Amino acid sequence: MSLDVLAMAAHPDDVEQTCGGTLIRMAEMGYRTGVLDLTAGDMGTRGTPEQRIEESQAAARHMLLAWRDNQHMPDARLENTITARMTLAMRIRELKPRVVILPYWEARHPDHYHASTLGYEACFLAGLQQLPIGGEPHRPFKILYSTPYAGVNPTFVVDITGQYERRARAILAYGSQFRPKGAAKKSKVHLGLDELEGEMNQLARHYGQMIGVKYGEPFFIKELMKVDDVVEMEVRSV
Ligand SMILES: [Zn+2]
Repeated sequence: MSLDVLAMAAHPDDVEQTCGGTLIRMAEMGYRTGVLDLTAGDMGTRGTPEQRIEESQAAARHMLLAWRDNQHMPDARLENTITARMTLAMRIRELKPRVVILPYWEARHPDHYHASTLGYEACFLAGLQQLPIGGEPHRPFKILYSTPYAGVNPTFVVDITGQYERRARAILAYGSQFRPKGAAKKSKVHLGLDELEGEMNQLARHYGQMIGVKYGEPFFIKELMKVDDVVEMEVRSV
C-alpha cells in the first residue's frame, strides 16, 4: 500500500471538516488518498463508537478515499507517548505517504494538538534507519497543517468550489452527531444540521474569498513556497 496523501486526525469527522474538500480534489486528480483517525470518538456524547466508525466509512466513500482506518487510541485523553509515536511511525512506513495532513499544533481540544505533535514526531521517526520497528524507513516529503479552526493566517488555500457539495455529503454522513433540520431542540448535545451547514459554509466561504473563489480550505506549512514565474502568480492583490 502506498498513498500520495494521508490525513491524520484525532476523531472520526475531523478531516471531513478541516481538509475533506482537498482530499476529494486530490482523489479526483488521480492521487491515492487515505485517512487515519486516531480515536473512535468513544468519549463523545453523541452516538456510539461503532456508529461513528460506520459513519466514517460512509464518509470515506463520499470523499473517494482509497484507504481509511481507525487506530483506536483513547479518546479525550490522547497522549504523545513513545508507544503512540512508534505505532504511528509503523503506519507511516506501511502507507508511505508523500504528503501528510495534520491538525494545527495549537487548538482548544487537547486531542487535536496532541494529534498534531504525535503525527509530526511519527513522520520524523518513520524516516530513521535505526528505529527498531520493522519496515523500510520512510519520511513524508511534505507536512501540511489544516487551519480552518486555528485562527492563524494560512500559508495557502486550496480551491474546493468543485468539491464543496461532495464534502458536505461526507460531513452529513455522521448522522448520529446531528439533530435533523426542523427537529425540536431537545438536548444541547446534538448540533442542529442547519447550524452546522451554516458554519461550514461560512468558513469555506471566508477562505475561498481570500483567494478569489467561492469555497476554500486553508493550510499552514513551516517552509516557504517556491515561485518561478511572478507574472503568472494567481490571486489578485488588494
Ligand atoms: Zn475532533
